[in-house]
Order: sequence, then C-alpha cells, then structure tokens
Amino acid sequence: MAKIICVLYDDPVDGMPKVYARDDLPKIEGYADGQTLPTPKGIDFKPGELLGSVSGELGLRKYLTSLGHELVVTSSKDGADSVLDRELHDAEIVISQPFWPAYMTAERIAKAPKLKLIVTAGIGSDHTDLQAASERNITVAEVTFCNSISVAEHVVMMILGLVRNYIPSYQWVVKGGWNIADCVARSYDVEGMHVGTVAAGRIGLAVLRRLKPFDMHLHYFDRHRLPESVEKELNLHWHPTVEDMVKVCDVVTINCPLHPETENLFNANLLSKMKRGAYLVNTARGKIVDRDAIVKALETGQLAGYAGDVWFPQPAPQDHPWRTMPHHGMTPHISGTSLSAQTRYAAGTREILECYFEGRPIRDEYLIVDKGTLAGIGAKSYSKGNATGGSEDAARFKAR
Ligand code: NDP
Repeated sequence: MAKIICVLYDDPVDGMPKVYARDDLPKIEGYADGQTLPTPKGIDFKPGELLGSVSGELGLRKYLTSLGHELVVTSSKDGADSVLDRELHDAEIVISQPFWPAYMTAERIAKAPKLKLIVTAGIGSDHTDLQAASERNITVAEVTFCNSISVAEHVVMMILGLVRNYIPSYQWVVKGGWNIADCVARSYDVEGMHVGTVAAGRIGLAVLRRLKPFDMHLHYFDRHRLPESVEKELNLHWHPTVEDMVKVCDVVTINCPLHPETENLFNANLLSKMKRGAYLVNTARGKIVDRDAIVKALETGQLAGYAGDVWFPQPAPQDHPWRTMPHHGMTPHISGTSLSAQTRYAAGTREILECYFEGRPIRDEYLIVDKGTLAGIGAKSYSKGNATGGSEDAARFKAR
C-alpha cells in the first residue's frame, strides 16, 4: 500500500467555513481549447467547498483510505523538522499546490527512495526540481487548464486595480476620508493603452480575450505564434523578442511558466527598457522577476505599479520587501485557488491518482516529466533544469 503526503495551506484562522457565501457554482462545460474538464470516476466533496486547506484534504481521504493507502496531510513543509521532511523517507506520492508549495528539491528527492509520483494540484511544477525528478524516473503531473481562467480574471482585476488606483482609493474610504484628489492623482483609464503578455498560452490568451472589449491595443511575445485567425480576430501584434514588446507597452502581464529560460527575465536591464510609468502584473511566478529591481523601479517611478500574487519563496518571509514597496497591489498566492478552481483541481488530482493506481496512462496534457524526461505539456512549455534554488528561505515565514 502506498503512502501519500499531501501538503496543503492552513485552514482559515477562525476555522473551516460553516456557511459559504454562495450555494452553488456555475457549471462549466469544457475548456476554451476543447480540452475536457477532469474526469475522475467519482468525487467525495461538494463543489464549492474549501478543499485546498488542511481540513479540506483535497477531498481525497475517503478514496485513498478505501484502497488501504496511508494519507498524511500537513501544512508543515519547510525546514528540516517539518512534517514533510519527517515523512518523506517512505512516501510514494507527494501532492502540493503552488500556493503553498512543497519544494521538492534534489535533496528532498534523494531522501525519498520510494517516491514515484509528484502531483501539482494546480498548474506550475517549478517547485519540483524537474531535472532531479527526471534523473530518478519520477513522474511529475499537474492539472492543466484547471485554474487558467481563474488567473486570467485575476490579471484583468489587477490591471484595472493598478491603472485606476483602486486600492489606495478604497483605503481612503476605510480611513474615513473623501480625498478625491489624492485618489485620482494616480488614476487613468485603460482605454487606448497598449497591453502586452509575455506568453500567450492558456492564461495569456484568455487575458487578451478579456481585455479586448476594453478597447486596449493587444500585444504578445511567445516562442510560438498563435494561429493567424486568432491574431486577426483579436487584432494582435506579435513581437519576436520580449524587449521589442515591453518598450511599446503601458501594461505588461507575465504568463509564462518558470523554468531556467524565464528565471530572472525581468531584471533591471529589461525593466529599464519599459516605458516610464508602465504597470507590471505578474501572476506567473515570483522568480521570473528580480525582487529588488522591482522595488527600485517602483521607487524611481520607472514602474507606476506592480501587482500579482506570486512570490519567492512561498510563503514570503515577513520582511519580504514587496510587502512594503510603494504602489503595489500584491496578494498572497490566491488567483488560482478560488473555490471554483479548487473543485476542478481536486477532481483533476483524483483523476491522476485513479490513473496511477489503476495502471492507466495519465493524460498527456497533465504530464510534465515522465519516463526520465520532460513529457506531455512539460516538453512544450518548460526547458530542462531546476528552478527551486533558494526555496529553503521559506522556513523564515512565521504564521500570524
Ligand atoms: P500554458 O502552458 O498554457 O502556457 C504557457 C505559455 O508560456 C506557452 O504558450 C509557452 O510557449 C510559453 N512560454 C514558455 N516559455 C517561454 C519563454 N521562454 N518565452 C516566452 N513564452 C514562453 O500555461 P498556462 O497559461 O495555463 O499557465 C502559465 C503559468 O502561469 C504556469 O506555468 C504557472 O507558472 C502560472 N500559473 C499561476 C497560477 C496562479 O495561481 N497565480 C495558476 C496557474 C498558473 P510555447 O508552448 O509556445 O513554447
């Protein structure tokens, strides 16, 4: 029988919700590119429940224990005395979400001789050393498309929030003020602005589609071009390099995976090539930008605003400079873990586990690493190597 470790974020400080804000979720029939939603044989949760925190257990306990497997669920994931480190020695499967990632470094993989499968309940497997997983013949899988639209919605919200100066204006209300001039001294319309996405995959393209009705000029940079019909439909401008794109954009949104090719892409040099006063929204991964260069760019006015929900490491230590830098609209890593998204990726995780235990192939579109190499969607969207360096810093976070 297998031992499965499931690393999840902590429950709400006041405990699991007794009542939810809404009674149901809209029914989604399929994804935009024709991919089907997760197809597990069954689920043991009610769509709309909080599944991503420890007590939610991704709805997996009944299924796994009915097969006689051992399920360890914990939020304790960083530092040598963490539950994750203590339990790894005989684990066969490790599951975690990018929001609260189990950093599966080469050292950890070496400590887990029985490990065969690492599942990302969500999208983005950069928290696993993909090189080390390949070398050990461990399969890495994620639930492709499960929360791409959740993130795209968040990106649009953050672009509007920054450009229209929403958060500081909200804060004036809470403070009891009516300081209209203070609010609008940094407030603009997005209409007519040029917006560009780094990568036009599932999220990037969905962002472009959602911004089209705002009458913005749409740009993208990607290694592969979109079909001509899509470029025409959305009146898209493709750029051969990221430098070429950022110099003409008022707003840039980052939607590529983190891998050695994209790590530190937005460094001081690239930021200096952006238009002065541009906005940068990053919901992809914290390490794609240079942490300190972002702070400097906001302080000097090179960037008018920065928002996103991805940090490095996660959870971000209390003294992470992005918590206090000017003109930011950061949230913890939440865009892909709305209750709507959780329903899909919990079902997708269940589907992956059913395939694994029944000896059926995991869908190609869910595979990142398989049979010793990048595979499936991983072979298309990632490059070889490892992007987990520095993740031990997550142990400095203290829960409040
Ligand atoms: P997709 O795989 O659909 O899209 C990724 C795109 O990135 C592909 O079009 C790929 O191009 C492109 N790409 C990869 N490397 C480069 C590069 N070096 N330069 C330019 N483009 C590149 O993934 P999604 O859109 O669903 O997700 C993208 C990322 O967003 C995830 O990997 C994850 O890091 C992040 N994410 C964040 C979430 C959150 O909660 N904040 C939730 C979900 C995802 P091509 O294939 O053409 O080579």
